[in-house]
Amino acid sequence: MEFARRKTRRVRVGDVDVGGGAPISVQSMTTTKTADVEATLTQIYALASNGADIVRVTCNTVEAAQGIAEIVPRSPVPIVADIHYQYRLALASIEAGVSALRLNPGNIRNENHIKVVAKAAMEARIPIRIGVNAGSLDKELLDKYGGPVPRALVASAMREVRYFDDVGFFDVKISVKHSNVPLMVESYRLLADTTDYPLHLGVTEAGPPPGGLIKGVAGIATLLNEGIGDTIRFSLTADPVEEAKVGRSLLEYLGLRERTKLDLIACPSCGRAEVDVIKVASEVNDRLSALELPIQVAVMGCVVNGPGEAREADLGLAAGRGRGHLFIKGEVVRVVPESEMVDALVEEAQLLADEGAEARLAAADVSAADLAQETRVELLSLQGDPNRTAARKAAIADIVAGSSD
Ligand code: SF4
Repeated sequence: MEFARRKTRRVRVGDVDVGGGAPISVQSMTTTKTADVEATLTQIYALASNGADIVRVTCNTVEAAQGIAEIVPRSPVPIVADIHYQYRLALASIEAGVSALRLNPGNIRNENHIKVVAKAAMEARIPIRIGVNAGSLDKELLDKYGGPVPRALVASAMREVRYFDDVGFFDVKISVKHSNVPLMVESYRLLADTTDYPLHLGVTEAGPPPGGLIKGVAGIATLLNEGIGDTIRFSLTADPVEEAKVGRSLLEYLGLRERTKLDLIACPSCGRAEVDVIKVASEVNDRLSALELPIQVAVMGCVVNGPGEAREADLGLAAGRGRGHLFIKGEVVRVVPESEMVDALVEEAQLLADEGAEARLAAADVSAADLAQETRVELLSLQGDPNRTAARKAAIADIVAGSSD
């Protein structure tokens, strides 16, 4: 299911479209000194191979701008220059060949300078992100609105938009980032009601995982589910590769980008579990992640409920009575000794990716479903039926018999 998306204009960052119904893109930012070209390119490649569609680098010195001139032709993804305070570095970045700029309206406030940059971007045919940040909002707006509240953030962005309008520059995307999740969400909602420019979502200064991750997901996913947002960035105090990974994963889990890698689902385990589900799920995760197969795999602690509860998974494993029961779309296709079940699952995952579900269902061991049912009945008699099916059926028969009274 895909959420109805807000209609926005489209801008183009290198070969990546942003807004106007384009796939939502993932961004991250390097942490290296941009002047260190090799280190920065190494990080850019790591980010690109872990899900980043666009990478931003800081451009804070002339050496950084010169580094960008070497980075751009060798980068696998479009490069955005991050500009604060010095508008001339924005001009230098354009000369260096960047695919987009990010300007912070909180610290480049001279109207003429902003317009000079917009004109240069227009000539170079590259977009600019107006990157408002609650932590660096200009003092006049802080005083006027009484703090970094949503109206102040949106006013900052729209003032910049008006400067751009004055020179006929409309190749714009906007962010209004806040470190406070409810205020971030409210700021973007207000902005979405104010303009149809594409929006770059993010919770700024979110901190290290897991807290930073939770804040990012809370803010970004809330807005995406409302159809708001055209490109995203997680701001984590961590290796930026983590930002790219979680950004990509979030979009895949929300069904907004195609699955490119493993989606492991696993039961939380309970007193019925026939194996150590945490240990098995972790091993399966490690081994299948390495294969980079775009499939959903379930690890379930018992065969009583496992195959049924995980019937939507492409492939699954349910334990019981010393055996592993492999199932495809809820159908048990193979039963193996518990000691071999992870190996068998990995093998089946590869076969499934190579041959498809229909072929693997056709190749199922004909006795597997009966074996699984036997185990299930055995476990139910040992542990009792968690669904109380027999008791419920008897109660239903009593109710119906009584209904004619
Ligand atoms: S699948 Fe089995 S072990 Fe896992 S939570 Fe459900 S009942 Fe418990």
